[in-house]
Amino acid sequence: MTIDLRKLTKTFGSLTAVDAIDLTVGDGEVLCLLGPSGCGKTTTLRMIAGLERSTSGEIWLQGKLVNGLTPRERNVAMSFQFYALYPSLTVAENLAFPLRADKHSKAEIDKRVKRVSDTLQLGGILNRTPGQLAEGEKQRVAVGRSIIRDPTCFLFDEPLSRLDVQLREEMRGEIKLVLQDLSRPTVIVTHDQLEALTMADRIAVMRDGRIEQVDTPHNVFQHPANLFVAGFIG
Ligand code: ATP
Repeated sequence: MTIDLRKLTKTFGSLTAVDAIDLTVGDGEVLCLLGPSGCGKTTTLRMIAGLERSTSGEIWLQGKLVNGLTPRERNVAMSFQFYALYPSLTVAENLAFPLRADKHSKAEIDKRVKRVSDTLQLGGILNRTPGQLAEGEKQRVAVGRSIIRDPTCFLFDEPLSRLDVQLREEMRGEIKLVLQDLSRPTVIVTHDQLEALTMADRIAVMRDGRIEQVDTPHNVFQHPANLFVAGFIG
């Protein structure tokens, strides 16, 4: 399973927000999109998800051209943060929610809730409500809810930005482990250098709608210019 972008372009009037980018994200690979505000990161994610129509270029998911497909047909999991649990529902009900909306059978729902709760070690808290959970547990449930549909890929926009520093540290490592197990391509938009360093297999540096470099975190951060682009210094 891969994400393949070919000459993907988005213009808003006279502004070219995303400028003919080529990018492949492999099976199980975590790619971080890094770059200054306004360089086109979120627009790129939204086009992959189908929330924004591309002006030109192609988006391939799992070897299939998806330009004409709706977000639901693309079956991508996009989340803006790992939160947004329904406070009145139990953990099990929160996990099952996306499947209920898709009208799966009860047996299928139970099977998938079990699988996801095994993966994320949620078995002991399935009957609790979000108010009774520790912060880290809430995050795992939110991740669980976004993976329960067995999506083709994961797209995260600044997923940890609302968390306090300590929790962010804990979650970076934890989410990376979960993503590794899931074997899906993942794109994460982040401003946080440590987030990119710990979570990414590769980093794509964006500026003015273009991808300037795609490489391992180690190689990307060897160039002081990239730290500047990412807004970490300067
Ligand atoms: P940030 O980190 O601030 O979210 P970004 O890299 O995600 O920035 P985008 O949100 O993708 O950047 O925006 C890229 C450019 O496209 C910006 O100049 C933005 O103002 C513009 N833009 C985004 N959405 C629209 C829209 N719906 N209409 C017009 N211009 C837009």
